[in-house]
Amino acid sequence: MRRVTRREFLAALSAAAVTGAHASAQTDGRRLKNWAWMRGAVPPLDEWRGQLSAMKAAGIDAILITGSPEFFQRIIPPARAEGVDLHAWFPTMMRGESAQAHPEWYAVSRAGVSTAVKPPYVPYYKFMCPSRDEVRQYLAGVVRDLAGVEGLVSVHLDYIRYPDVILPVALWPKYNIVQDKEYPPYDFCYCDVCRARFKKASGVDPTEIADPAANRAWLQYRYDTITEVVSLLADEAHARRKLLTAAVFPTPAIARALVRQDWTKWKVDAVLPMIYNGFYKEDVAWVERATREGVQALGGRIPLYSGLYVPDLPPADLAEAARRAFAGGASGVSVFQGNTLTLEHWTALSAVLRPQERGR
Ligand SMILES: [Zn+2]
Repeated sequence: MRRVTRREFLAALSAAAVTGAHASAQTDGRRLKNWAWMRGAVPPLDEWRGQLSAMKAAGIDAILITGSPEFFQRIIPPARAEGVDLHAWFPTMMRGESAQAHPEWYAVSRAGVSTAVKPPYVPYYKFMCPSRDEVRQYLAGVVRDLAGVEGLVSVHLDYIRYPDVILPVALWPKYNIVQDKEYPPYDFCYCDVCRARFKKASGVDPTEIADPAANRAWLQYRYDTITEVVSLLADEAHARRKLLTAAVFPTPAIARALVRQDWTKWKVDAVLPMIYNGFYKEDVAWVERATREGVQALGGRIPLYSGLYVPDLPPADLAEAARRAFAGGASGVSVFQGNTLTLEHWTALSAVLRPQERGR
């Protein structure tokens, strides 16, 4: 896809400003910040800076991107020069790189299959087990290295969860699968450590639970193991004066049901729920309802930024989704992903996001 130049972008913005003035979001004094998840290679640094400049003009304040500490040391100065915050986005539990050296670190399904050997759904779905001390220490090291980078704003957790015991409904046909309830090949984790820890706490071996989906203690155990990992990683980030942020499933209820995330309890500084309406066969209006559920559950403790899935949103719908997010109480939006928006997307979105339109 052709990248939009800054000049084209600014020209389109001034044209849109006339019609966009009525689009200002209701924000009730919230401190607003808008984000973009970015993938792919970063261009030469002068081009990168131009790209960020255009995105900043559209109302984007923060970029979430994946890379090594050295990568961030290189790209942070041009981003700071444009007033854009950088956040180190990384997959947390879903990491295949230790599957050869430490297969025992990987989660085991109720069918007895390890993700190190046969991952569910797709070959890269190699999830580690959150109960294991070795896994926790390994992840703490990853966060420690990233959080040590001068000028980085946060470490951003993605895949901070179990594998989907149930996929979002719109994905079922893609995998030729019906998940009307929890099935053993997708239900995790039943490794030796999880079984022993839960048995010690409850007296029950999880492999002997007749209906695991209805067993509150076993569900809670798994919510808690993820929450414990988040707390550990938060301590690592905070010790280096960095924030911890996380991409999470769209609402607290869906997150618990599909991937065992109890994210309203987490020790993070902000959440970015992926409120991807198309994945759940919902319309754009759902973005507002889902946002409100999360905001109310958090009770103002930390800000929530609504993640929007651009491939499912034509430009006008993207703008409407952003308005819905603000109406639902979001402190901003985050677009997935920043390099795929067309000029029409940016023009429509910026009418909602730009500070002068937001009345601050
Ligand atoms: Zn386990």
